[in-house]
Amino acid sequence: MQFFSDFFHQKVPRAGRETPGYFQRALLCCNGLLIIYFLICFLFYPLANNGVWEWLPPVFIAGSVAGLWLAKHQSLRINLLFFTVLSFGWVAWNVYAFGWSSGTQHFLTLMLVFIFFNVYEYPLVKLLCFLAILGFRVWLFSWSQSHTAFYVMTASANTVYQTVNTVGFFLMLASICVIFSTSIQDTERQLRLRNQTLYKKAETDPLTGLPNRRAMVEMIDHYRQANPGDLFSIAIADLDFFKKVNDTYGHNCGDYTLVKLTELFVQHANGHYHVCRWGGEEFCFFIPGRNLDEAGVIMNDLCFAVERMQLSFEGNDFSVTITIGVEENDFSSPLDELLGSADKKLYLGKEQGRNRVVV
Ligand code: GH3
Ligand code: MG
Ligand code: MG
Repeated sequence: MQFFSDFFHQKVPRAGRETPGYFQRALLCCNGLLIIYFLICFLFYPLANNGVWEWLPPVFIAGSVAGLWLAKHQSLRINLLFFTVLSFGWVAWNVYAFGWSSGTQHFLTLMLVFIFFNVYEYPLVKLLCFLAILGFRVWLFSWSQSHTAFYVMTASANTVYQTVNTVGFFLMLASICVIFSTSIQDTERQLRLRNQTLYKKAETDPLTGLPNRRAMVEMIDHYRQANPGDLFSIAIADLDFFKKVNDTYGHNCGDYTLVKLTELFVQHANGHYHVCRWGGEEFCFFIPGRNLDEAGVIMNDLCFAVERMQLSFEGNDFSVTITIGVEENDFSSPLDELLGSADKKLYLGKEQGRNRVVV
């Protein structure tokens, strides 16, 4: 039931003036095959009907040629309408002329494929088209049961004709399926690649290229779920007097400092911890498998490394320091509380004079 409800509530994009590429290819292919098929029918009828030529196939050949032109120059709706008229006309005439056993009624199925794969058509219109095709087919069958065919083919001619119709139908159906499925796969591939890029962008800080807060929280949550009994620590670092750097050397120099710090963090991490840009001039560290003391040692080492780092921007040499608050996972507190606790320690460090690690 949900499936049908979803189908009827589908949002329908507005169709362009031209037929979409994959529909164009399918229509060109079908009309091309139809020209060959109608030509074969034209040549076959005199053989099956004691030398009597039928002039309807050339009319349908002209129709298919027009279909080729329409596929290139007209909207999808006009194309499908034209193809429907062509198919209905051909099937109706065949049932009238050769009876139900001619096998042309399969051609109506092509219309179903075209209609249901048309993303620009409303679900209700699709349903009505489906009912119209079904109704036409049922009516044609019952009509054929109460009327005798105009031409009577021999059994062998009928077999040949049925074979021609079946092969023609299968070729067209297979072509449509190949063209549509290739197009769908291609769209899906592009969509997935685009999603991957967007996903990466949404989780990456544009200035430093580090994961952002959201990505870090996700990573820690994931780690906690996957390793519920495992020890880890987290740390939050804040640049000391960073406003001064901006005010003295300019905002670009501030950005440069953040980038240089990132390079140092990534190099220092060396697989022992993960770092993210927490926001502004704050960074968060996730140190798996380390208790508070061990994490404290690692962060102290980092603190010294930052202090030692010489920075130079547009002829100005300077250095910066950071203050870090560290907290250990206690296996009971939610992540928010652990982060809050690390943050409190960080501000304690600021109060105590900065450039230090508080564990
Ligand atoms: P404290 O030692 O108390 O942390 O002092 P502070 O100056 O570092 O702290 P404050 O919160 O007063 O200033 C932080 C500054 O960081 C202000 C803001 O302009 C700057 N900042 C935040 N994000 C960026 C950024 O992406 N680029 C630059 N250049 N500056 C940033
Ligand atoms: Mg700050
Ligand atoms: Mg600061």
